[in-house]
Amino acid sequence: MRIDILTVCPEILDSPLNNSIIKRAKEKGLVEINIINLRDFTTDKYKTVDDYAFGGGAGMVLMIEPVYKAIEKLKGERNYDEIIYTSPDGERFNQKTANSLSLLNNIIILAGHYKGIDQRIRDYLITREISIGDYVLSGGEIPVAIIVDAVVRLIPGAISDEQSALSDSFQDDLLAPPVYTRPADFKGWKVPDILLSGHTANIEKWRHKQAEERTRQIRPDLMKE
Ligand code: SAH
Repeated sequence: MRIDILTVCPEILDSPLNNSIIKRAKEKGLVEINIINLRDFTTDKYKTVDDYAFGGGAGMVLMIEPVYKAIEKLKGERNYDEIIYTSPDGERFNQKTANSLSLLNNIIILAGHYKGIDQRIRDYLITREISIGDYVLSGGEIPVAIIVDAVVRLIPGAISDEQSALSDSFQDDLLAPPVYTRPADFKGWKVPDILLSGHTANIEKWRHKQAEERTRQIRPDLMKE
């Protein structure tokens, strides 16, 4: 998979995309992530990427020209499955979207900034708009990091034990069961006996029951029936 990220603040993405599982996935060659600075596609000496909104009003607007040039250059090099814009008014990001994006080959994600981006970018260049929730952040970089993290860990081989991603919350519309590690008894706070029994089938049954109970209690909306 190849992910090209367009941003005016590449620094924000440095740490989240260069550590832990994403770092390892890149090293294993499972994903290539390129962070592209939109200022490299400006023509003036100040590298301007924003301007005042037509019609007035507070806040600057990300200009279409640098975005258009960056996307045209990338599209000239390969085909893209989706050109995504992160936006508070986009479709709500969830595990199903992450699953489907993880099956794609090449995607571009544009992080917005300022008051937003020139509407013509959305009308003519973007194929999909994704929101990470009903709140407004200062820029699209953190949403991009969230989307990329959720997607990359689903690429087969990104997580050492593939089962691990499949048994996470929201896969199968269930929340994950609780997990424990050593010590089995910490100041009298004990790990459930069943987990120490060594009986794999019973443990699996217990975990499934816990997942169902937690989901029914905390997120009944996830359960289909
Ligand atoms: N004025 C816009 C918000 C702009 S926030 C509005 O009211 O809708 C600046 C940028 O941050 C946006 O262009 C978008 O790329 C990003 N952003 C902010 N909140 C987001 C969210 N919940 N999901 C995805 N992207 C978000």
